[in-house]
Amino acid sequence: MDENCLFCRIVSGEIEAKKVHEDALSVAFEDINPVAPVHILIIPRKHIATIDDIGPDDTELIGHLFQVARNIARDKGLSESGYRLVINCKADAGQLVFHVHLHLTGGRGFTWPPG
Ligand code: AMP
Ligand code: ZN
Repeated sequence: MDENCLFCRIVSGEIEAKKVHEDALSVAFEDINPVAPVHILIIPRKHIATIDDIGPDDTELIGHLFQVARNIARDKGLSESGYRLVINCKADAGQLVFHVHLHLTGGRGFTWPPG
């Protein structure tokens, strides 16, 4: 737990969020500024600042985040239409919150390449 980290404080319950899933390893909640009809953030309970900071012991944890994202996408009815998963890493990607999070976005079409 990093006291100065917004998402650690959401994990602890100190800051409110619209949680859609919680388990021993992860928490998922609605993005406060959604860019699509479905926009959910899936985060590890463990504080890891960026994808550049994941270690060999985190392999299962990172895989778990994708399983959770897939399950939420199914619950939201996105399995057929599809969806986009995004992880921003550091400045060039526009990372704003330095606690690893997987964006699950869906409910509309997306363009490629991203801006
Ligand atoms: P990123 O640019 O990948 O670091 O994305 C950070 C995301 O966190 C943005 O999509 C924000 O809208 C979202 N966000 C910031 N503060 C909160 C909050 N308190 N609750 C939910 N989502 C948040
Ligand atoms: Zn954190």
